[in-house]
Amino acid sequence: MDKMLSLIVPVYNEEEVLQISFEKMDAEMKKIGYPYEIIYVNDGSRDGSMSILRKIANKNPQVKVRSFSRNFGHQTAVTCGMDAAKGDALIIIDVDLQDPPEVIEDMVKAWENGADIAYGKRLKRKGETIFKKFTAFCYYRMLKAMSANAIPLDTGDFRLIDRKVADIFLKMREHNRFLRGMSGWMGFEAVPVEYVRNERYAGKTKYTLKKMLRLAMDGIIGFSDRPLTLCGGFGALTLGIGGLGLITLIILACCAVSFPAWLWAIDGMVILQAMTFLFLGIQGSYMNRMYDELKARPLYIVAEDLNLD
Ligand code: UDP
Ligand code: MG
Repeated sequence: MDKMLSLIVPVYNEEEVLQISFEKMDAEMKKIGYPYEIIYVNDGSRDGSMSILRKIANKNPQVKVRSFSRNFGHQTAVTCGMDAAKGDALIIIDVDLQDPPEVIEDMVKAWENGADIAYGKRLKRKGETIFKKFTAFCYYRMLKAMSANAIPLDTGDFRLIDRKVADIFLKMREHNRFLRGMSGWMGFEAVPVEYVRNERYAGKTKYTLKKMLRLAMDGIIGFSDRPLTLCGGFGALTLGIGGLGLITLIILACCAVSFPAWLWAIDGMVILQAMTFLFLGIQGSYMNRMYDELKARPLYIVAEDLNLD
């Protein structure tokens, strides 16, 4: 059993929970039995988090800490942890004990049984506002409808990923990161591990409404071209309506049926407006492609080779 596990924990102003969180996670990792490292990424905390991390790291050689110069955001902090991780499987977990450390064992079991990704699926969320529960419920469903690659419902970043998946993550250097979407995009054998999401152990959420909206936008813009194609579709539809209107008016005029002359003007406006939408949609498709090229994701991902070196 010489495989190793890396636990990746992003930290932003978490002095109230850090110590107890470390104790619980460390005990859990010991129990699981593989050699392990715990990588804390301090995302520019302005409270006592870093001095607590210093103390923990001094006493525990399995604890590694990387500290940012300022707040770069949760998704970037997790990415940094992945960059630093040496393990054969990486586990991403929040520091606030909302993701119960006991679930890690189930994820490791799924991994031992061949899963490349074992993602935490929330059966219930405790201690979160109705607003958060409702917006999250709607958002995940909307995202699923909008994006071509499966992003599992009610799933956060709490997950285990195999080394080969992590290596592909490391190749994807896009700046606006939405890790759960990237994970869905990659494919691989992803297995859900169900759990009940706890209340935050202490402290307040570090995801402000602004940060949450930004993450939500990153999810949609990064993983769906629907907003851009929608415009073209709308343009085509309106052009159809304007065209039908024009044909009707011409027929009426030929049959010498009288109608108000401003109908010509209205129909002309509808057609012009439709053309604008249509051209915006066409421009959007070019933008989509440019964005796609800029992201420079790998063209394809190999899961297995047979008889190939
Ligand atoms: N976090 C971070 N940088 C940020 C915001 C949050 O590293 O800018 C960390 C935070 O310390 C925690 C995790 O990301 O470990 C999730 O944040 P939080 O629990 O506040 O979000 P919520 O669970 O309320 O969505
Ligand atoms: Mg939390």
